[in-house]
Amino acid sequence: MVVHPAAVPVAGPAGDPATAARPGRAAPSGIAADTHCPYCALQCGMSLTPVQDRGPDGGASPRVVVAPREFPTNKGGLCQKGWTSASLLTAHDRLTVPLVRDRTVDAAGAVTRGGLRPATWDEALGRVARGLTEIQAASGRDAVAVFGGGGLTNEKAYALGKLARTVLRTANIDYNGRFCMASAAAGANRAFGADRGLPFPLADLAGADAVLLLGSNLAETMPPSVQHLAGVRSRGGLVVVDPRRSATAALTGAGAPGGAADAPPQGVHLQPVPGTDLVVLLALLHVVWAEGLADEEYLAARVSGVDDVRRAVAAWWPERAETVCGIAADELRRVARLLAAASPVRGGRGAYVLTGRGVEQSTQGTATVTAAIDLALALGLPGRTGSGYGAITGQGNGQGGREHGQKADQLPGYRKIDDPAARAHVAAVWGVDPASLPGPGKPAVELLRSLGTPGGPRALLVHGSNVLVSAPDATRVAERLDALDLLVVCDLVPSETALRADVVLPVTQWAEEEGTMTSLEGRVIRRRQAVTPPTGVRSELWVFAELARRLGSTVPFPLDPAEVFDELARASAGGVADYSGLSHARLDADEAAGGPGLFWPVPAVPARLSEPDRAVDRGASDNPAGRGTHPGTPRLFLDRFHTPDGRARMVAVDHVGPSDDVRPDAPVYLVTGRVLQHYQSGAQTRRVAELDRIVPGPFVEMHPILGFRLGIQDGDPVRLTSSRGEVRAPARWSDKIRPDTVFMPFHWSGAGSVNRITTDATDPISGMPEFKVCAVAVAPDPAGDLPSDPAPGRAPGAASGPAPGAAAAPTRGRGHELSEEVVV
Ligand code: SF4
Repeated sequence: MVVHPAAVPVAGPAGDPATAARPGRAAPSGIAADTHCPYCALQCGMSLTPVQDRGPDGGASPRVVVAPREFPTNKGGLCQKGWTSASLLTAHDRLTVPLVRDRTVDAAGAVTRGGLRPATWDEALGRVARGLTEIQAASGRDAVAVFGGGGLTNEKAYALGKLARTVLRTANIDYNGRFCMASAAAGANRAFGADRGLPFPLADLAGADAVLLLGSNLAETMPPSVQHLAGVRSRGGLVVVDPRRSATAALTGAGAPGGAADAPPQGVHLQPVPGTDLVVLLALLHVVWAEGLADEEYLAARVSGVDDVRRAVAAWWPERAETVCGIAADELRRVARLLAAASPVRGGRGAYVLTGRGVEQSTQGTATVTAAIDLALALGLPGRTGSGYGAITGQGNGQGGREHGQKADQLPGYRKIDDPAARAHVAAVWGVDPASLPGPGKPAVELLRSLGTPGGPRALLVHGSNVLVSAPDATRVAERLDALDLLVVCDLVPSETALRADVVLPVTQWAEEEGTMTSLEGRVIRRRQAVTPPTGVRSELWVFAELARRLGSTVPFPLDPAEVFDELARASAGGVADYSGLSHARLDADEAAGGPGLFWPVPAVPARLSEPDRAVDRGASDNPAGRGTHPGTPRLFLDRFHTPDGRARMVAVDHVGPSDDVRPDAPVYLVTGRVLQHYQSGAQTRRVAELDRIVPGPFVEMHPILGFRLGIQDGDPVRLTSSRGEVRAPARWSDKIRPDTVFMPFHWSGAGSVNRITTDATDPISGMPEFKVCAVAVAPDPAGDLPSDPAPGRAPGAASGPAPGAAAAPTRGRGHELSEEVVV
């Protein structure tokens, strides 16, 4: 029998330091804690105020009031997810006690798995420690694998990597950022020698004459960020590349229904064939050189590899590109000229090239990012104030999460794990022999594929990730998880992955803990505790320390996040992502003095900043706690790139096409993405009644032309079939998508879980899976039996949402006007 966690009595053991109220930390009732949103990498500033009156559950939980806070990324705005985020604290099925699943073995050796049942922390951790010990004794250290998440705080990401390398001593650790940022990171590391998503403050976009945005729907994924595009839109310089006329594409004014002819153009929307963004970029590069628009002086002074790229793109003249990507040759020329006119060398205010998951989640994701960087370099943009290239990080701590050691090939500070000097430095901080540290492990998709296979891992620890919904080819992932001898999941709620585990450990979340996050711009910010966690819940830092102790390790694992951060700072010293000049106290003092946070690198030595950067970051001049210390680095590469010779590297790339391209038995492109109301696998947002009510389940967006051709009306049940399986969901007609393409959001499990049919083919350099495009057959669903409950875990009473296609509720507060304009 599976015990539903909501029915489990709260029975946390006494004397647990992690579940006790933390004097001086939790905001007393009525006093606001200044913190940041729990979701995306914009990390909008907000205040959380616990209040005396009780919530709608009649008093079981304290109510917390969310208020937006002025912060440079959100400028006082929040999206619907941020406004409703306090509901996460009172989720109806919040885990508050460990769960354990018993296994029995019959005389023939057949294993039967029972249901999850409540257990004490002692029993649950004993089961984990015993299981890990037995598995490693029988099958070696790498038989235990670890899977982390881009939503973990810097402290937790760091401690998880340390646990894997010093206690478990397994090479097999990776995280869900491999699904999210790996191609952007690989491209930026190769070109610049460093990967900070935006190597400049987001607010810099406001002054540009042109922004080329490829594969990002930030008007839905992070609506407050659109405020930074107001300037470029007013100058007609926003260029959006997306196969859908998304909310962001609509900001260009292109194709807007009614009145568009009278409105001044705000930009250009290019709607390429899915999987051909790289061709668009190669054609733009071709035009830049063919028309003499490149910044040759900059290229000569700051860039290597130019001639190889110039030769390679000669083969991508616009008319040829048009036959592949479907964008008219004249339109490609127009965009190249628009970008060039905005570049500093031609007297423009500046230009930016930005990429998102739409072009990065591809088997040619690194190549596409590389072409985007090549274009930016040809125009002389990176390393100049007011211009540049950047990748828009998605997950809340997608930036910090990839810097501190939970990535398969890295140690803290963005150090390479196969670098002897890096190993020696980090081993010294950890007090272990460098030779004892494992080498590089498998990237996420390869790791998941290997679970339970001969020679593969037999146990998996999962932290901050719901791989059963978020990983590609999810049916195969489920099979691999079931083949394990031990699956351990730390989570707040019974996610789909947690419900498949052998041991589930209930842990603290967001407003119940202290820590730091690193925003999409590399700005290190404080997450602050606003409420005391429920009885029975523990911090993952405590879980790591307790596991280390039970596994016989003497490596210390501090419980205080400030202490963990101090250790992280020492481990990062001298690395690319150097946090050694930071501490919780310094970040607090900076914020108290009105500072906007500090951008890494922040080494523990003084440094001089250029005047524009000093204006952005007041840490050095205005903040008493920061006086005499390094003020941080809002803008990277102003003097040199982070390569041995200080020059950026252009790399020639070419178009190959998607791994799973359209063909007669699968003639339609499938692209996947997010909707405004939900975040990643939906494990959190599906539990927020207000959000679930607006978008209660998956849908298949298709053009009416495709619908007519296939006999599918708006709202009809639809079946999508790929070579991995099939999914079903209602059709949602829209003229905003290409007639050869369908779109599905990926926030749900069950029959409408689109990752059951996405491909797990990966980029050969980054290991990133090709979520964004695959080939499917689209047909009416003859059974018509759409999933009756597409959203397990939804809040009680939230099931009655509007029909597919209904408008979303507007964002409140300062984001109100914004979202009414851009959303749905
Ligand atoms: S854009 Fe929305 S989800 Fe992202 S941090 Fe801001 S409020 Fe949260």
